[in-house]
Amino acid sequence: MHILIVGAGIAGLGAAWALVRDGHRVTVLEQGPIPNPRGTSVDSHRLIRRAYGAETGYMRLITHAYAAWDRLWADLGVRLCVDTGALSMSALANDWVATSLKALRDDGFAVEELDARRLAARFPLVESQGIAAAFYSPDGGVLLADRIVAALARWLTDKGASLRPDTRVAAIDADAGSVTLAGGGRLVADLVLVAAGAWVAALAPSVAARVEPSRQVVAYVDLPDDLARAWAAHPSLLCAERTTGFYLVPPVMAPDGTQTRLKIGDHLFSRSGDAESDPRIASTEETRAVFEQARGRLRDLDRYRLAEGKVCYYTVDRRPGRETFQSLMLGKAAWAMSNCSGHGFKFGACLGEAFADMVAGRRSADAFTRYAAGEAP
Ligand SMILES: Cc1cc2nc3c(=O)[nH]c(=O)nc-3n(C[C@H](O)[C@H](O)[C@H](O)COP(=O)(O)OP(=O)(O)OC[C@H]3O[C@@H](n4cnc5c(N)ncnc54)[C@H](O)[C@@H]3O)c2cc1C
Repeated sequence: MHILIVGAGIAGLGAAWALVRDGHRVTVLEQGPIPNPRGTSVDSHRLIRRAYGAETGYMRLITHAYAAWDRLWADLGVRLCVDTGALSMSALANDWVATSLKALRDDGFAVEELDARRLAARFPLVESQGIAAAFYSPDGGVLLADRIVAALARWLTDKGASLRPDTRVAAIDADAGSVTLAGGGRLVADLVLVAAGAWVAALAPSVAARVEPSRQVVAYVDLPDDLARAWAAHPSLLCAERTTGFYLVPPVMAPDGTQTRLKIGDHLFSRSGDAESDPRIASTEETRAVFEQARGRLRDLDRYRLAEGKVCYYTVDRRPGRETFQSLMLGKAAWAMSNCSGHGFKFGACLGEAFADMVAGRRSADAFTRYAAGEAP
């Protein structure tokens, strides 16, 4: 089959990888450069973690995610994930952290509960006072996102896939399996996959009814040498307290010997903004607001230097409290994948494989949709 993929983020390239492995002819159309720094997938890191609150389907899907990444690393010849483990903590005894802990235990996944005393002894960088629930999960790490996208693009080119940067798709014909290019011209294939991230609404109105774009701010932080060394050996951190909480990505050493920066972000969806026109640089005030969420939860925060803030877009599930990926058949010859709500990178390889399974008839359309929704692992 010839398959046209719109979008060269992790969703599009993950699917392209699995489809090329299955022997298909693949063409990837990307409106910007490849990798595109305005896309959601192109940042220095994205977390993978086992803890998923009450979302036990996604918790179990992490096993598939790790297995799929391993197959990808074997193809790429390099492992672009740094294992760190994941520390979760909360000032509340009955929120996301407690729910995650119970779900991990119920399923028999490795997890170590930490009371305040043990938390303080093992993880002195965090402030244990006032923490009511905490655990360490060994399943967690940092996916080197921008490097993964770049390496995938190189692998696909080597394998004969056609990658077309600066090729914006203006419209699709979901029954004909064709796309109209903004610069003029029409391409026809057997199947079109729209993997357009935060731009999906323009090409797939049925997906737009389910997800909306959300502007998110992350803070990059520089550290004095002693803290940099300590964080380099520290798990990622999720602090679920208050209305939002924050996450912290520790600095890690990439295989090429370069060190990534410490990053702090939150999971409070702005549900606003325009991925197309908005700049990706955050203001000092909004970056500081994200950073300040760590105050009282990290010791010696005044020694951390706020370096810069960045803006990133993703789509989020329109239903409050739901964070389900949306995969929809758009017509007889087109699908859309929206790995939304700020947690889709870690599943990029396994959802790509699941899409290829469906194309090959190894998985039904309904089974694929439910798999992506975290309902069927
Ligand atoms: C701040 C932040 C933190 C996150 N943290 C995590 C995390 O820790 N763990 C995790 O698993 N996930 C995380 N995510 C989510 C994850 O990054 C996304 O789920 C994932 O990158 C989405 O990939 P995508 O391929 O769907 O979209 P994108 O990477 O945005 O790719 C879509 C591509 O389509 C292109 N495109 C759009 N329209 C067109 C068109 N008309 N024609 C041609 N090309 C087009 C775009 O230019 C873009 O390159 C985070 C996201 C953000 C923003």
